[in-house]
Order: sequence, then structure tokens, then C-alpha cells
Amino acid sequence: MVNLLESMHKCCLPSGVPSESPSAYEKSFVHKIFGGHLRSQVKCQQCSFCSNKFDPFLDLSLKIFKAESLQKALANFTAAEWLDGGERQYNCQRCKQKVRALKQLTVHKALYVLTIHLKRFHAHNPGQKIKKKVRFDCALDLKPFVSGSYISMFSNTDYWLAIGVNGLFLFSC
Ligand SMILES: [Zn+2]
Repeated sequence: MVNLLESMHKCCLPSGVPSESPSAYEKSFVHKIFGGHLRSQVKCQQCSFCSNKFDPFLDLSLKIFKAESLQKALANFTAAEWLDGGERQYNCQRCKQKVRALKQLTVHKALYVLTIHLKRFHAHNPGQKIKKKVRFDCALDLKPFVSGSYISMFSNTDYWLAIGVNGLFLFSC
């Protein structure tokens, strides 16, 4: 499904517009319906400076190894993680030094149709499928996983679920 969306995105662009350029994401009807933005925020624990990066996406690919439900998989995906040592140490733009920092991914722009892909193969052993059951309800409130400052185009962040061959599709209510 994700490959299909990416192909549709490339095919429907005006000629000469690179498929991964910012204008492509603005003009693509595929991204207008299925696309969202992820915010990656790193917060310095010394001066509280926040660095934000925004990346467009067509689907969320969630690890299920430590999740028994869709809610838990989303919670793991958006859980804050410490950058506090070794290669993971963060260089703060304001402090001009390496500091302890907290990194978190959130869905910044809610979308009309959210496509979720459950990763059923181990990263270190792609031949081994994870066969565990992942529970989900027929509706999902995306609010806990959306950036706090986000002002939705919808009155809420509730989604109805539909199951596809390779993923879950969530439709904004
Ligand atoms: Zn700092």
C-alpha cells in the first residue's frame, strides 16, 4: 500500500517537480489525503532550547516487538528518549556544547487518512516474522501522539479504523 501511495505521489506531480521537494508535498493530492508531518524535537536539559525538525510521511511504521496493542505501539513510537552519552550525546545550538537532552517524535500534522504499518519482521533477522497479536479498537484518538502546539484542521483527533492487506487505515471522523 505504501509503495502504491508513493508511486501515485510521483505519477501525479507536474513535470519537473522532484518528488521529494517541499513543493511536491504541497502540490501532491496523495500527500493532501494520506500525508502528514512528523516532528522530531530535541530539548536541551541545560537551557531548555528546543530544536524541531519536520519530515513528511505517508505511513507510520510501528514496531510491535514490545507492544500488545496499537495504542502501546504508538506510545512506544512517540516515547521520549534520553540523549545522554556516547554517540547519542546532543550538541546544543544555544549552549554550544554537548549536553543531556530529551528527544521525542510526534505526529505534528494530523491527516485525513492515517496509514499504519505494523513491523512484523525483526530488524536484525528479517526472515523471522513476529506472529504476535496486536489489539486495536474500532476507533483511535490520536491526541496523545500529536504535538501539543498543533492546531487541528478537524474538531478532534478521532479516527475510525479499517484493516487493509498490509496495514491499518485510520479515517478522520
Ligand atoms: Zn542548551
